Amino acid sequence: MAERGNMSERIYAVAIDGPAGAGKSTIAKRLSSGLGVIYVDTGAMYRAMALYMIKKGISAEDNDGISKACQDADISIDFADGEQVVILNGENVNGLIRTEEVSRMASITSKNPDVRTKLVELQRKLAKSKSVVMDGRDIGTVVLPDAKVKIYLTASSAVRAKRRYDELTAKGEKCDLAVIEADIIERDERDMNREIAPLKQADDAVLVDTSDMGIDEVHQRLLDIVNARIG
Ligand code: C5P
Repeated sequence: MAERGNMSERIYAVAIDGPAGAGKSTIAKRLSSGLGVIYVDTGAMYRAMALYMIKKGISAEDNDGISKACQDADISIDFADGEQVVILNGENVNGLIRTEEVSRMASITSKNPDVRTKLVELQRKLAKSKSVVMDGRDIGTVVLPDAKVKIYLTASSAVRAKRRYDELTAKGEKCDLAVIEADIIERDERDMNREIAPLKQADDAVLVDTSDMGIDEVHQRLLDIVNARIG
C-alpha cells in the first residue's frame, strides 16, 4: 500500500479512473465502505465548479472568465453518514449537480488549467490525511501517481448509455438512448483528448471492462485487485 506517515498510521489510496458511465462511483462507494475508508468523488467537484459558472452566467467558451471566476468558487467536501457532501460557497449542492446541463458544462470547464490546479490541490489534501478510494479521470496519472492500487474501469459506450438510460427512465424521466450515447461519446472525446490531464489508463493500472459484468462481479474483481496489491 502507498504508505505515508508512521507505521501505526498506514494511509493508502485506491485510484479508480475511467470514462463517464463506467460504474465508477457505484463501485467505488461499495468498495470504500467495505474497506472502511472514505470515498472521494472528484467528478462531483468538477460538477460543483461547473454549476458555479452556470450560476454566474459564464459561457463555456469564455476560458479567461472561467479562470477568473474559479478563484472565487470556494469548494469543499464534507462527509455525512459516509456520503460525500459537496459544499459550494457554503451551500450543499449535492442535489444540483447531476443534471445533463451540469454534466456538459463540467466536461468543458474541466479543461481549464486553473480549475484543475485548484481542484487537484483539494483532492491531494484529502488523500494526505486519510485512506481513500478516489475516482475520476486523472487520479492514477496526475492526482495520486504513487497510489498503490490503480484501476481503469471501462465499458463500451453502448452499455454505458443503456445504464444511464435505465437510470433515468427508472426515475420517470423521458430520454432518448441514441442522444445519451452520442453525448457520452462526445464527453469521452473531450476527456481523452484535452491537453491537461487527459483521461487515460496509467501504466500501472489494472484494466477492468465491465461491459459484460454485473455489479457483484465487478465488486469482487476489484476486491481481488486491492487484496493482491495491499495484502
Ligand atoms: O465523473 P463525472 O461524470 O461526475 O465527472 C464530470 C466531469 O468532470 C467529467 O466529464 C470530466 O470532464 C470531469 N472530470 C475530470 N477529472 C476528474 C473527474 C471529473 O476532468 N478527476
